[in-house]
Order: sequence, then C-alpha cells, then structure tokens
Amino acid sequence: MTNFIYQEQKWQSQMSDLITSPTELLELLNLSEQDLLSGALLASEQFKLRVPRAFVSKMQIGNPLDPLLLQVLPHHLELEEHIEFITDPLGEEQANQLPGVLHKYQSRFLLTLTGACAIHCRYCFRRHFPYQENLPKNDDWLNIRDYLLSKPHINEVILSGGDPLTLSNRKLALWLERLESLNQIQILRIHSRVPVTISERLDEALVSLLKNSRLRIILVVHSNHPAELDDLTCRRLANLVQQDILVLNQSVLLKGVNDSAEILAELSHRLFQARVMPYYLHVLDKVKGAQHFDLEANKIDQIYTEVLATLPGYLVPKLVREIAGEQNKTPLYGVTIF
Ligand SMILES: *Cc1c(COP(=O)(O)O)cnc(C)c1O
Ligand code: SF4
Repeated sequence: MTNFIYQEQKWQSQMSDLITSPTELLELLNLSEQDLLSGALLASEQFKLRVPRAFVSKMQIGNPLDPLLLQVLPHHLELEEHIEFITDPLGEEQANQLPGVLHKYQSRFLLTLTGACAIHCRYCFRRHFPYQENLPKNDDWLNIRDYLLSKPHINEVILSGGDPLTLSNRKLALWLERLESLNQIQILRIHSRVPVTISERLDEALVSLLKNSRLRIILVVHSNHPAELDDLTCRRLANLVQQDILVLNQSVLLKGVNDSAEILAELSHRLFQARVMPYYLHVLDKVKGAQHFDLEANKIDQIYTEVLATLPGYLVPKLVREIAGEQNKTPLYGVTIF
C-alpha cells in the first residue's frame, strides 16, 4: 500500500488548503479513469467536493474503491432520482425552534454554530440543509438562553454540524462561557469529524479550553473505517481521554465502505486502542443523493449479528436509525422479540 506523503501542518493551514477539485484529488491518487472524473465533476455541482489533505493521505494510491475515497468523491449515481430518498429525511426543518437550535429529544438539544465542515461526506443527511439561513447571530444567544431557561429539564447541549471544531478556539470559548453561565447545563457534547480528518485540531489550546470547563465534556467523533485512524490520530484521541474528556465514536453503515463485520470489528478494536468507545452505528438516512450507499435490511441484520458474535459487548456500537418525529434514536436490533 502506498500513500502520498503529507507534511503535518497547523490545523488552520489545513482548513485553508482543503482539496475541492475532483481533478486534483484524482491526480494525487493516480486515478486516470475518465468516467470517474466526469461523474465527480457533475455530482460536485450539487454538493461540492471537500476533503483535507491529511485524510487523503490515508487513502491508497491507485485504488478507485478505496473506502475513504468512496466517502468523499462525488459520484454520478448521486444524480439519480429515487422516490424514497429525499432532501430532509429527518424533518429537521420542522424541529427548528430558533436560529441554530434543534430540540427533538427531552434532555438535550443541538446547537449549530456553523454550517461549515472540513470534509464533505457524500452520505451526509444534512447535505441539503439550509444552514446559512439558520445560524445564530450574536444577539440570538439571549433567545437561546431564554429557551433553555424555559425548559429546565435540558441539562446537555450538543454542538453539532456543520462541524463545531471548524470554529476558532476563541469562538468556542465564548459559547462555552455562555453555556457555563446556566446552572442547569451540566454536559457539553461536541459532535465532530475534524479530530479524525485533521487530528492537528486537537491541539493544546483546545485541550486546555475543554479541560478547564465546569461542564462535563463529551467528544463524539465520527469514523467509519479503521484506515481513518492512523497512529497520530489515535495518539491525539487517547491524549484527550487522559485529560478526562470522554470520547465516543459514531459511524454510518455504508455499502462499499464498511459493510462487513470484519471491518466493523477492526474499527472497534482500533478505536479501543485510541481509548475511544464505540457509541452508535447509524443506518443510512434516506437522503437524496446517497442511495448508492444503502444496504438491504437483511444484509444489515446479517452484518450486525456477526458483529455481535465477534466483539465483546463493550465494543459493539448500538445499531440505530433516526426516525422523524421519534423521541430518541430507534434501536434496530432484537426489538421484535419483546
Ligand atoms: C442524535 C440527536 C441527539 C443526541 O441523541 P443521543 O441519543 O443522546 O446521542 C440530540 N438531538 C438530536 C436532534 C439528534 O438528532
Ligand atoms: S462531517 Fe458530519 S455534518 Fe459534515 S458532511 Fe460529514 S457527516 Fe455531514
């Protein structure tokens, strides 16, 4: 296996040097198939290609089916219409109470502070979400605060995506301070793919910011394949855990990427080496453009049954689906026996 050499840089430089051109990405990986390129150019008009160089350096050169490449390379199949695959499969536009706020579950609510991600995952359920119209402005904090005060059973705020770790530490510190000022808030959860795609983001400044908060901090990273977790990434994740930050992982089950018990088991073991506990394994949300990642129910069942038989219980992520209007993520395995 060969990979292109990439020099470690500050996370900010990586963020300003993301690959957005399908031509450049395919050249770096030595892939000259014309249909791959023309499909990528077409599909990227709907949802742009975006990938950090550090993530590309984990891909195999010359492999058009590389599981990391498949997650980011626009594909002509995205343009096919499919009746079940729609732009807002989770009904998030309806659940949107205030700019940036998404409150669906009792004790916790999502706060979106940015629409930007460091990487564009082709299967993302938010790929059609109108973020830019929906970000909180500075004085929206007062409304968010009033909303939280009116719902005292909310004790956890989740910073979600866009990707909150694309924000500067200064901006994160400001929001941390705001949330800390409310006694009812005990837990801050950060949902981010940046630690896996640009691990340099887990720098000392961020670690000290999180470590010094009154809030209990949980970082939920997003990794789908063990090849995403190189040694450096694992070391940086383990360092967070040593600083008393709980780190969990969520994955999406994706055809062609991680649709085997063997890969999922390897992913769990690799996470465990990095001191990260598997949390959720999501079934694909039926979002328009992602239909080629979909797996049939009996295939999912077969894979998960094998995962259960392979791994110790603590390394098995919960298989769930998000169903619009439900009060929680819906567990998918074994529910029929009750
Ligand atoms: C997934 C999700 C959460 C978090 O759910 P947990 O099961 O606690 O991880 C919260 N709010 C919304 C809107 C979500 O989609
Ligand atoms: S990082 Fe998360 S929110 Fe951003 S595109 Fe990927 S899956 Fe979607």
